[in-house]
Amino acid sequence: MNHILKRINELHAISEALEPSNLERVNYIEQVSSYANNFIDGLEQTKAYSADQENLKSLKLFTGKKSLPEILKIYNNEIASKGIKPASGGHIGYIPGGGIYSSGIADFLADITNEYVGMHFSSPGGVAVEQVLLDWMKDIFSFPINAVGNLTSGGSIANLIAMTAARDKYQIKNEVISKSVVYLSHQVHHCIQKALKIIGLEDVIINYLELDDYSKINIRDLKSKIALDKENGLVPFLIVASAGTTDTGAIDPLNAIGVVAKENNLWYHVDAAYGGFFILIDHLKHKFIGIEMADSLVVDPHKGLFLPYGLGAVLVKDEKAVFHSHMLSANYMQDARTQVTAINPADVSPELSKHFRGLRLWLPLQLHGIEPFIACLEEKILLTKYFREQLVTIGFRVGPEPDLSVSYFWYPSSNQSSNKFNQSLLKELHKDGEIFFSSTVIKEKFVIRMALLSFRTKLITIDKALEMLKRALEKINLKN
Ligand SMILES: *Cc1c(COP(=O)(O)O)cnc(C)c1O
Repeated sequence: MNHILKRINELHAISEALEPSNLERVNYIEQVSSYANNFIDGLEQTKAYSADQENLKSLKLFTGKKSLPEILKIYNNEIASKGIKPASGGHIGYIPGGGIYSSGIADFLADITNEYVGMHFSSPGGVAVEQVLLDWMKDIFSFPINAVGNLTSGGSIANLIAMTAARDKYQIKNEVISKSVVYLSHQVHHCIQKALKIIGLEDVIINYLELDDYSKINIRDLKSKIALDKENGLVPFLIVASAGTTDTGAIDPLNAIGVVAKENNLWYHVDAAYGGFFILIDHLKHKFIGIEMADSLVVDPHKGLFLPYGLGAVLVKDEKAVFHSHMLSANYMQDARTQVTAINPADVSPELSKHFRGLRLWLPLQLHGIEPFIACLEEKILLTKYFREQLVTIGFRVGPEPDLSVSYFWYPSSNQSSNKFNQSLLKELHKDGEIFFSSTVIKEKFVIRMALLSFRTKLITIDKALEMLKRALEKINLKN
């Protein structure tokens, strides 16, 4: 026995390192806080994109213990200084996340207290926070209060949960799969097709719909495709609409699609990961009419509410459809199953243990109220308008008036193909990096894409972007 006690004491002396002293904790947090402050204060001066992808050697593990200052230095040089800077307001390329400070504080609290929010039994308060947030979202989108929901890591997993519920409600399995039809726009986010593959619906028939000039689903085409598929003995079961496509920010005709879905008994899913929270702006509400008809809805607070990456949400009206694949139990769960009144997040998600991610939204909403969030969204809408107007004055062509804050533009070159010219232009923009743009292809035209959704994107950012575009144009014109 003695040797066991001796060994326990030896191990304790080593493992104790995982519990820093009060003084060390204060010291750590001060260093990290000081790093964070310098990082934020310097954002305005640093580029939104660095093409540097080299030298990640110092990230190797177990090359000797390092002090926190050394680690912060590595973090800064090898991580925070490379690639796209999502925290920068100059990130207007891919739909940006935000990273508001108050979410960071909430994550810190959630990590230290480490609430276990998979089951109500283990953290009634933590699960209630999640429920309060989901109930708020149901209210925003006029979903019934008895809909179920889940806070996920992001839009992709949220969409996966919704697709699974649709599959189970309609019992799309075995020989039914290859006769079942899903109606999609080519503009749907690729996580939808990915979800279908993951949940065993790879062999389902995907009927892609015609789009109008605004890249929105054409209702007449939807109706006739459904009718034709029925005539041919197929089983239409799911239609996915987007409330804000990733590529161009288009909102599909949500109400008309909802009507067609009901008439044909289809599961109606709306992916509002990017655009959903714009419904909070009074004068944009009308664009979302019909969203309340959806059977399931996805929205991403880490996009539209400026949170750091790691928070999506799904709402589903038919709880049975969700529980079918997600509510399972095991003997070791018997104590946790005693509570029957509250919904366990684990019953609505593939996850069991999960990060207490609700706090990163709940705390900021308590601290700031909702007004600054709505103001920030409206600011992005107006900045998009301003940006497009200014682009035209310096010779660019712009895509159609966007519904929200994603748009595209291109330079009409006279002496070489427009696609080639704009490809070189984008290269030049990436080399510069002050502001980060992405690109896409719309009807075979290579275009530069802007997505304004960072809470740090301000008027000064757009003016910088315009200067940068002028610089890049001059450079290319000199080369040609
Ligand atoms: C971003 C996005 C997704 C994917 O969400 P993640 O949070 O990146 O997983 C899905 N749909 C739309 C419309 C999006 O904009």
